[in-house]
Amino acid sequence: MSDTVPHDAKYAWFELPGVEPPKRSATERLADFLEVYGPYDEATAREQASRCLQCPEPLCVQGCPLGSRIPEWLLLTAEGHFLEAAALTRSANNLPEICAQVCPQDDLCEGACILNGKAEAVSISAIERFLNEYAFAHGAVDASPAKSNGLSVAVLGSGPGGLACADELAGRGYAVTVLETQPLPGGLLVNGIPAFKLEKTAVERRIELLRRRGVRFRIGAEVRLELNLRDLRDRFDAVFLGFGAQQAHPLTVPGAELKGVSQALPFIIHHTTDVPLDVAPPEVKGRRVVVLGGGDTALDCARTALRCAAAEVLCLYRRDRANLRASSREYENAVEEGAKFQFLTAVVEVLGNRAGEVTGVRCVRTELAAAAAGGGRPPPVAVPNSEFTMPAEVVLVAYGFDPLPHRTWADYSQLAQTETGGLRVDENQMTSLPGVFAGGGLVRGPSPVVYAVRDGRRAAQAIHRYLTTRREGDLGTSHTDHLTPEAL
Ligand SMILES: Cc1cc2nc3c(=O)[nH]c(=O)nc-3n(C[C@H](O)[C@H](O)[C@H](O)COP(=O)(O)OP(=O)(O)OC[C@H]3O[C@@H](n4cnc5c(N)ncnc54)[C@H](O)[C@@H]3O)c2cc1C
Ligand code: SF4
Repeated sequence: MSDTVPHDAKYAWFELPGVEPPKRSATERLADFLEVYGPYDEATAREQASRCLQCPEPLCVQGCPLGSRIPEWLLLTAEGHFLEAAALTRSANNLPEICAQVCPQDDLCEGACILNGKAEAVSISAIERFLNEYAFAHGAVDASPAKSNGLSVAVLGSGPGGLACADELAGRGYAVTVLETQPLPGGLLVNGIPAFKLEKTAVERRIELLRRRGVRFRIGAEVRLELNLRDLRDRFDAVFLGFGAQQAHPLTVPGAELKGVSQALPFIIHHTTDVPLDVAPPEVKGRRVVVLGGGDTALDCARTALRCAAAEVLCLYRRDRANLRASSREYENAVEEGAKFQFLTAVVEVLGNRAGEVTGVRCVRTELAAAAAGGGRPPPVAVPNSEFTMPAEVVLVAYGFDPLPHRTWADYSQLAQTETGGLRVDENQMTSLPGVFAGGGLVRGPSPVVYAVRDGRRAAQAIHRYLTTRREGDLGTSHTDHLTPEAL
């Protein structure tokens, strides 16, 4: 950091422009699946942190679902106290280095920064990433097991919600067992989000840290046999359910069964992990690919197809650019890499040849009607007589996900559900069964990683209160009404 940088001055932002972290060129990116962004160096991190105005009522803290004490750790960073700053990020977040990479910052902390409109927002996430990489590199991330408190918790699902819950509980001395049906732990952090957004080594490092803290991981198909809820409740003092929302919305138009139509998530998993799939997704090399949808999965799928040398990738989305669910940063990255977008367009049929192979899509133009009273996004409606066709050989469907129905494990169907199929929980993340807690996609449907982390933390804190109170004999096991969630 240069001596002239006014790192403690309130108006440093006026003199110092915001600087993006190092970014690889689109051409370079398309040749591999490695991360798009690199971390800041120390001087840049200090300089960029000094741009924070230190607002007395910081909007960025309100914008972060975890209420991270952002201005405090930015000030420590500007002063060069990197390890103290990193520890402060960890006090609010069990996966800060991961959230720093995948959070849709423009909608969260950075979108709320008061500098927006005057200059670039403070690059909060890039600084958070730098701090945590610095802490790992300096061996400053504690992995020592806590003293046992004699109580045990089962965590089902090893996505960010499960990992955050396991971490919080292990830190309080619980014997935590994570049960995961997939061969690789990490949930969608591994079997979903592609490596160009989040290197898998970052997730492996976190899981290794949890193992060193004493968390036991039971992974793979045989786990499925042990998932009876009644048995789990007998064997463990409490249970956290973090299955995620992994039931893909199907494409229901005529032609959806043609060869060349596939769900987006298996396509991404096939190209970003070694996890074997029952059915190999279609080959995209040299082909025209149409991606349906406008969320993270659609954009990740388009960018994966481009890295697999598709001849052309076009994303069709039935709403407009302003209503795209994916983050603006990732949209811009996708466009840089060559993805094309056609907004206000919906597919009404997939066209095929005699061999049953996709040859194109028939679409209609859409327009947005007024949003329903009470909010929500404006619904798209078809424009009359606006049909048109376009050629394609592959159609990848990214229409979103729902929580998996529990019919396969009848035992789980006793848990109360919401109208949208998620599990119903109270303000302590407790389900309708005492001692059974839940969070993440299973409760809220698809949403950013940081919300699953928040649910996992909340659940862990509530489990701790629940079991402590029960142990003291003050609590019947039938309700937790008098418990208030700890502030996060
Ligand atoms: C392609 C894609 C890209 C995304 N990109 C982003 C992004 O850039 N930024 C962002 O913030 N969010 C992103 N998301 C969303 C984010 O990944 C999820 O919201 C988040 O991972 C949900 O966390 P979770 O803990 O609820 O569960 P998940 O991550 O869904 O993990 C659930 C785990 O539970 C396991 N499981 C299921 N059933 C059982 C069972 N019966 N017993 C034991 N284990 C079970 C599953 O195998 C899985 O490993 C993306 C999602 C997708 C699909
Ligand atoms: S966790 Fe996400 S929202 Fe919170 S400060 Fe970090 S990047 Fe921003």
